[in-house]
Amino acid sequence: MSKVSAIVLAAGNGSRMQSRTKKQFMEILGKPVLWYSLFQFEQSSVEQIILVTAQEDIEYCKTEIVDHYGFKKVRHIVAGGKERYHSVINGLEKATGDIVLIHDGARPLIEQQMIADSIACAKLNKACAVGVPVKDTIKIVEDSKVVNTPERSRLWMIQTPQTFHTGLIREAYKKMIQSKNRQITDDAMVVEQYTEIPVYMVEGKYTNIKITTPEDIVTAEVFLKKHQKVSESIRL
Ligand code: C5P
Repeated sequence: MSKVSAIVLAAGNGSRMQSRTKKQFMEILGKPVLWYSLFQFEQSSVEQIILVTAQEDIEYCKTEIVDHYGFKKVRHIVAGGKERYHSVINGLEKATGDIVLIHDGARPLIEQQMIADSIACAKLNKACAVGVPVKDTIKIVEDSKVVNTPERSRLWMIQTPQTFHTGLIREAYKKMIQSKNRQITDDAMVVEQYTEIPVYMVEGKYTNIKITTPEDIVTAEVFLKKHQKVSESIRL
């Protein structure tokens, strides 16, 4: 049986949110955005959760989120870094599982199915990312001019969790740090660029949005209300 760890990232400063409260701590339906992904991992087969947050928010996360809501699987709260990849590397240092899920704490709409499918896929294939096929046509634009229109049927929007054999993702990040390249926007890209291992797609949901701008809070609230209604009706 493999042991599974989850790294939940909440060390961003959310500059596009135009709010004094960081987006991961803003409330939706009476709970902080971060609560929702911690709750889903707590309910899953994951054994260890590593929460990564800004140094100045460690105490707040401990008392107001982890202790307050009684999350038992959060074994470490560690400081993140300037860029997202710094935060991931700090989280990876504490991961004791053979498999590790890396998730944006700003995506409260993660579901059990995504976690279970990601773990199963990573056990089999070593590396996978949750995503959905794009619905719109995507164009490459330079200086306000379209230079190319990639074939839509091959394009996916990539979300989190992204899940890996822990040794593989550590090794990939180590190679990235040794190189001069810092142009990475997700964890899968590090595996793509620094290993020979293919990254598999796990089909997620269009609802698994990342809270980035103020209107995303409104959208997430609508989706979360719907989820709550569904789970209440299952319990009845
Ligand atoms: O900034 P962005 O929306 O891409 O961040 C995605 C996730 O990564 C968020 O949950 C954010 O808190 C986290 N992050 C981090 N450390 C950083 C930057 C972002 O943990 N330096």
